[in-house]
Amino acid sequence: MTNRSFDVTSGNTLRCRGWRQEGLLRLLENVLSVGEDPDNLVVYAALGKAARDWPSHDAIVQTLKTMRDDETLIVQSGKPIGVVRTHDRAPVVVMANCNMIGQWAKAEEFYQLEKKGLICWGGLTAGDWQYIGSQGVIQGTYEIFRCIGERHFSSDLSGKLILTSGLGGMGGAQPLAGRLAGAVILCVEMDSTRINKRMEAGYLQHRAETLDEALRLVVEAQRKGDGCSIGLLGNSADILPEIHARGIVPDIVTDQTSAHDLVYGYIPAGLSIEDVQALRENEPEKLAGLSLTSIARHVQAMLDFQSAGSIVFDNGNLIRTQAKKAGIENAFDIPIFTEAYLRPLFARAIGPFRWIALSNDENDIRRIDDYLLETFADNPSVVNWITLARAHVPFEGLPARIAWLGHDARTQVGLAVNRMVRDGVLAGPVAFTRDHLDAGAMAHPNIMTENMKDGSDAIADWPLLNAMLACSSQADLVAIHSGGGGYAGYMTSAGITIVADGSSEADERLRIALTNDTSLGVMRYADAGYEDAYDEAKDRGIRWLNLKERRTVD
Ligand code: NAD
Repeated sequence: MTNRSFDVTSGNTLRCRGWRQEGLLRLLENVLSVGEDPDNLVVYAALGKAARDWPSHDAIVQTLKTMRDDETLIVQSGKPIGVVRTHDRAPVVVMANCNMIGQWAKAEEFYQLEKKGLICWGGLTAGDWQYIGSQGVIQGTYEIFRCIGERHFSSDLSGKLILTSGLGGMGGAQPLAGRLAGAVILCVEMDSTRINKRMEAGYLQHRAETLDEALRLVVEAQRKGDGCSIGLLGNSADILPEIHARGIVPDIVTDQTSAHDLVYGYIPAGLSIEDVQALRENEPEKLAGLSLTSIARHVQAMLDFQSAGSIVFDNGNLIRTQAKKAGIENAFDIPIFTEAYLRPLFARAIGPFRWIALSNDENDIRRIDDYLLETFADNPSVVNWITLARAHVPFEGLPARIAWLGHDARTQVGLAVNRMVRDGVLAGPVAFTRDHLDAGAMAHPNIMTENMKDGSDAIADWPLLNAMLACSSQADLVAIHSGGGGYAGYMTSAGITIVADGSSEADERLRIALTNDTSLGVMRYADAGYEDAYDEAKDRGIRWLNLKERRTVD
């Protein structure tokens, strides 16, 4: 334990020379305040860290407090390297997290480099201080459930059972997303403290100690037809086969355990958390082997449910990839959620956009909600989401909101909010950011870019272009991340943050950075042959060069 407090800062008193630096400092504080293991700087996904170590963290804080507007801080895998003179339109912070050379980009190499203190994994939004708690993935999860409802259940999930696992930093969004979609959702979780944490945060309603107790709660909720969430203490590699053996066929099955990491993430059946900690220290290879064996059972049960009629999907944790390594040859019969449900949105650059009230005033988010409800009144998906979110999604840390918005809409919201800051309608500045899982920002052949139409799944140029473009478009923070731990060698992504401090300079930054971010997203999908992206480019004047037809779409 560090004996540090992880409170978020409130109000309008600056500790830095300006709001751009102060905003980023508050976001760094925020990811730790809502993170899973802040004493060890871990924010989510088992190993996703906000900074390399405490001396690095403290130096980042100290530097942000003293930097001028015409300076840029360089961060390498969570460690501040230096400050250089740039200009007042350059990013305040640029960072590269966990990028290893191809042949060396392997989990074992990562663990060794991490042990030597040379690298750390920034997750997607941990290392660049953009994580907003479980809310960050909630709308994505909700949209998947809603899409499954539309496609398979006549748009009505009442009385339907979703079976999933993992109530960690991101997985903790599942129970609330399932309940908001109107379903009964049963979440298996091995760590008792995580179940309690989600209940305290208002994301989870009920806790069950045994499968019998959980199934009683499921049946009761199904009878009432209300949305309901239940956390069951247990190991998925035991519980899922047991549910299948009892002849129960859930309507939807997925998973969000940290299966991507066989040593620091997934917990094998038959082991306590203390056993796992001891094996991590002393016999990591044995632990990885046990994890693979359990994942094989876990995924076999998911496939059995699929054969019995459940709608089964991989929710982005590499569980199929690991199962295939463990000998489950048909693991990829389970589709990935991006390809199965969300790709038409990404093709239009509609994705997980977020904003965070830096003053810590919840009313700022409510005022922005009002603005969205009024401005996007003819967009049912925005109205539906904002109405649900404001009623049911609790704030964690600095008040924040996520909404899946696309090209033009993001810029419009950014500029309107900056005006609200300027006019004193809001209590303080607002930071804009997005998940890395966004149209132009991520290459991940087993998650984001699986089965792209043109086969460009493994090409990482797009996130690199995205980050360079964000730098030249005046974003305040720009980050390039690659996978660490079990994700080593699997992905590259880019992150971007812009602080709306009410100034005319912020107008310019928001206009250019947000517009160019989504422009690249549309171009990436147009380039890969997606018709929706062609149309989006045409309709919105995005100057994608369509070489097939040898003309500019404009
Ligand atoms: P986390 O490490 O915070 O939580 C994982 C949870 O799984 C822990 O609470 C752990 O106790 C539990 N768990 C591990 N093995 C288990 C088992 N065998 N049975 C039951 N519970 C078990 O991770 P997180 O941030 O919640 O992320 C979960 C996974 O989802 C990660 O692989 C992450 O990379 C991935 N992810 C996907 C998306 C997406 O876009 N869909 C977004 C974020 C994270």
